[in-house]
Amino acid sequence: MFESLSDKLDSAFKNLKGQGRITELNVASTVKEIRRALVDADVNYKIAKDFTDSIKEKATGEKVINSISPGQLMVKIVKDELTELMGGSEAELDLSGNPAIILIAGLQGSGKTTFSGKLANYIKTKKGKSPLLVAADIYRPAAIEQLKILGEQINVEVYSEPENKDAVAIVQNAIKEAKSKNKNVVIIDTAGRLAIDEVMMTEVANIKNAVSPKEILFVVDSMTGQDAVNTAAAFNQRLDYSGVVLTKLDGDTRGGAAISIKSTVNKPIKFVSSGEKMDTLDVFYPERMAQRILGMGDIVSLVEKAQEQFDEVQAAKLEKRIRKNQFDFEDFKTQLQQIKKMGNLKDLMGMIPGVGKQIKDIDINDDSFKGIEAMINSMTVEERRNPDIINPSRKQRIAAGSGKDLAELNQFIKQFDQMKNMMKMMNKMPMGKLAGMGKK
Ligand code: GDP
Repeated sequence: MFESLSDKLDSAFKNLKGQGRITELNVASTVKEIRRALVDADVNYKIAKDFTDSIKEKATGEKVINSISPGQLMVKIVKDELTELMGGSEAELDLSGNPAIILIAGLQGSGKTTFSGKLANYIKTKKGKSPLLVAADIYRPAAIEQLKILGEQINVEVYSEPENKDAVAIVQNAIKEAKSKNKNVVIIDTAGRLAIDEVMMTEVANIKNAVSPKEILFVVDSMTGQDAVNTAAAFNQRLDYSGVVLTKLDGDTRGGAAISIKSTVNKPIKFVSSGEKMDTLDVFYPERMAQRILGMGDIVSLVEKAQEQFDEVQAAKLEKRIRKNQFDFEDFKTQLQQIKKMGNLKDLMGMIPGVGKQIKDIDINDDSFKGIEAMINSMTVEERRNPDIINPSRKQRIAAGSGKDLAELNQFIKQFDQMKNMMKMMNKMPMGKLAGMGKK
């Protein structure tokens, strides 16, 4: 995400490379590049200008105390300023009240329903609360169905009254239902329209007045560029919402929306959402996003994701098996599952500094994993544990069972053998040397 902006900033910083100090002259030209990059990324011109003016001031001020590595210094200044611009620190979700009430608003197609599902999943799995989803769209029966399907996927109950055309009444009934069933968070998915219209706004405002939600989250499609900012402003005027959710950051999205919306409505961005799977919702961290925009990679997120999935007992077991040269297809499969749990492979790799840009045009899909998994699944446990017994007739059966051809299976087994050989070589290294590997 945000590649185009970070690419452009990259070239802006190149102008500073090799220069001994930040002078007013070279700051001016870099700053112009940065401004152009921001405007190209759909950041409103005035916001971009204010931003770069403050960068200019800060950078020229810095030159006296610090004249080394002007490029890095500029990156730091720009990163700090971008972080500030996007809100400084992350914004908490207010889950007080019993039940806590969260109202979701936005245009049709912005990703409201998908987000409602993701949020329910987040609240359930990360906050340990018991949410109830409410389908308050009284115009589109399909929207109710969609929410029900998502609810089933994440195992969260969905409240709806398909025959009732009074959205306020539905929501009030839903809250009663939540209380009676001990659900402590109610998430209300409201109806959207393709464009801002009075009926929709009044309806959402009526729900707001009737149930006083602690959180009103405005959902906006980050791919809609400058329109996103206008919509954000219109909704804010009517609803005075408590936070913004940027969806569809997985597409070829420009970063401008995050920056412009925050500075226009001055409401925190609380979540970013990328992808249609229920677990692709992330808390919005301004500093990480700024680092990402600048192509510094999102190391912190990556490490956290890895830690979340890391199973120490299993890792120790695996290490022992590798040491004893016993790594087999069964272990391989477990490893694949670990990686898959961490989410989308491409997103994951994009967080590694320097990798994001390189992989943006490459099609890495999780399907290549599926093929490998299918092959391993077609093996018997005995074959997985003793890869050596896989003879030509077994190979034929495994290939047929996984829907792969023999050549693909052979290649996979060959790669697996190579990997094992590599592990063997590593095992022969003295302990100290191995332990030091991977550390800088
Ligand atoms: P609503 O009309 O606001 O409720 O929007 P939906 O939740 O129905 O989403 C509209 C479309 O966008 C659907 O096809 C979703 O699958 C898709 N969508 C929602 N969120 C995301 C996202 O973060 N990334 C991508 N790529 N698609 C999304």
